[in-house]
Amino acid sequence: MKTTKILTFLSILLFLSLELDPVHAQERPPIIDMHMHVGAPLDLPAGAPAPCLPHPCEGKGKATASPEENLSKTLEAMDRYNIVLGFLSHFDRTELLEWSEAAPERFIIAPFVDDPSDISHDELRQDLEVQRYAGVGEIGAQLEGIAPNDPELEPYYALAEEYDVPVLIHTEGIGPPLPTFRSAAGRPLLLEDVLVKHPDLRLFVENTGYPYLDEMVAMMYQYPQLYGDLSTITWIIPRSAFYDYLKRLMEAGLGKRLMFGSDQMRWPEMIGEGIKAIQNADFLTEEEKRDILYNNAVRFLRLKEKG
Ligand SMILES: [Zn+2]
Repeated sequence: MKTTKILTFLSILLFLSLELDPVHAQERPPIIDMHMHVGAPLDLPAGAPAPCLPHPCEGKGKATASPEENLSKTLEAMDRYNIVLGFLSHFDRTELLEWSEAAPERFIIAPFVDDPSDISHDELRQDLEVQRYAGVGEIGAQLEGIAPNDPELEPYYALAEEYDVPVLIHTEGIGPPLPTFRSAAGRPLLLEDVLVKHPDLRLFVENTGYPYLDEMVAMMYQYPQLYGDLSTITWIIPRSAFYDYLKRLMEAGLGKRLMFGSDQMRWPEMIGEGIKAIQNADFLTEEEKRDILYNNAVRFLRLKEKG
């Protein structure tokens, strides 16, 4: 009896040490982060808290001071939580390539597109051709008030379809407080033209269209190629609002098409916040959590096919 008690005590100690010790991070199951950035779309001072909604509210974390600090803290968090792959986008090609060179194999890199006229289509084709880029987006044209079905975005969809790479798009009701941002340009129904015209496009939508649930469910039912991420909403809105949305998506049967993303921007602490938000959702089974944190992204990215 006494031995059993001691053994139980020892196993609790072992469990606790594994939980707390980052050295043992590799013993955690793998995670794929489908939404990462080198920087943020807003110019904020170092140390500024992460954005939060709705106002008035208090943001968490402290903005990193430079892309170098952001890279090292992001990699630290990736190691700690055993994030084996991140879908990383940025508007500055040089900085994006620097991250990818600093940590080969850790990132799928893709250009951030806000003003569609900013990027040379020839250069993008070249980057896709040599597999320097393995994705397109985040397409953040909504930050400029441009809707997803705007003809200006057509060449991006066409190239992504031709090269068979995933595309992340910001199509939802919320976004950074920029004067050009328009919630109305983020209605998921606006994706229909794109999905009809590009049936082979591997598109995934930031925050699964939050808070436009009905329109997003309609799109995901009609177009099985469409996936959604659970990224900024894991930490930027009240947890109760996130769980309410996630619960409804699960009840709609979409649990195999949702993928975790941190959207950490300049706040690498948000990587852990986002993961905990998924792990602490008591209405999800362990299998559903693994699907969101890893399995669905493996399927969407066709990682198994590559061996
Ligand atoms: Zn983003």
